[in-house]
Amino acid sequence: MTTKKLSDYAYYRTGGQCSALYEPHTIEELSKTLKDLGKAKTPFFILGGGTNSLVWDEFYPGAVIIFSNMKSIQRVGDSLVCGAGVDNTTIAQRARDGSLAGVSWMNRLPGQIGATVRMNARCYGSEISQVVSSVKAVLPDGTIKHYTPADKIFKGYKDTLFMDNGAVIAEATLSLAPGDQNVISDHMRFCEDDRMKKGQFVYPTCGCVFKNNYAVGVPSGMLLDRANANALNQPTVALNPQHSNFVYNKGAGSADILKFTLEMQELVYKEFGVWMEYEMEILGQLKPELQKRVKEIRSNQIVEEKIAPLRSTFQKNNNKMKPET
Ligand SMILES: Cc1cc2nc3c(=O)[nH]c(=O)nc-3n(C[C@H](O)[C@H](O)[C@H](O)COP(=O)(O)OP(=O)(O)OC[C@H]3O[C@@H](n4cnc5c(N)ncnc54)[C@H](O)[C@@H]3O)c2cc1C
Repeated sequence: MTTKKLSDYAYYRTGGQCSALYEPHTIEELSKTLKDLGKAKTPFFILGGGTNSLVWDEFYPGAVIIFSNMKSIQRVGDSLVCGAGVDNTTIAQRARDGSLAGVSWMNRLPGQIGATVRMNARCYGSEISQVVSSVKAVLPDGTIKHYTPADKIFKGYKDTLFMDNGAVIAEATLSLAPGDQNVISDHMRFCEDDRMKKGQFVYPTCGCVFKNNYAVGVPSGMLLDRANANALNQPTVALNPQHSNFVYNKGAGSADILKFTLEMQELVYKEFGVWMEYEMEILGQLKPELQKRVKEIRSNQIVEEKIAPLRSTFQKNNNKMKPET
């Protein structure tokens, strides 16, 4: 147990001190940590790579658990058994080196496998739910549980059982299939090049700030773009000019970033009547009124005459992705 600044661990480069930082080595140690925290009534949160999270800068009067010591990756038959802290790119590389297909799309997808399973991350036509064959996790009360897809762990777009029950993922087994190494490498390069072309690694970001509302039929990035959200840009916090749902941190603190994204949300609601829900997770202790505002859900009041042309433009351009290997 140590005390450090969370900005040293969070990809977005925000985050203050916490009371205690835990770095368990095993699922049993993780379970004991959760039991002890529960007994002491100590609040806690889990931090993976911090690539989908805004960690609050103010002191967190609780514990934070990270996975710096749970990074083992082992091949068993055609499966990879991955500790929660293994980076997505490491998994893609390891699969390629062993000529295993199924996770080439994870190359340069920032973050760790634990959160990637919890969030049911997806890109380039694939989703983590397609390859997960089992998960070892610990419930908040410290109980160790083994899950399979039969437990209905994946519920849909960015929606899993773990988001409801608060289980902490310790290990995920990915079931892959023999594949051609050249084809796998080719697709990995495609994914990396595409992300580079889209300016995803120019400044720290947390990926998409808002979920895509598929009922509306227009991605949040397009709504933000057409609402002229880049007019909100400031020297330290700004939209990625190529993807308006990505917010660059050019030296801002967490409160400024959050304020900026709240303005983005209001702008789209005013222009199109679409309420974009946060995908970005806020980790830390917010003031109650701010917490309430972040969790607020307003009903859509869709301005159909403005949305319809965007919907048809999006549909026309939508089939240009190279399929996954
Ligand atoms: C440049 C960029 C591009 C991105 N592109 C995509 C994309 O194409 N598709 C996509 O889906 N996402 C994308 N993302 C988001 C991000 O890569 C994924 O959501 C990733 O899975 C998050 O992993 P993480 O370890 O960084 O999670 P974190 O941000 O650390 O955590 C996310 C949430 O999961 C919780 N958590 C972390 N670890 C665990 C665990 N072991 N058990 C239980 N809960 C845990 C945290 O408490 C938090 O609530 C992108 C992000 C960036 C920065």
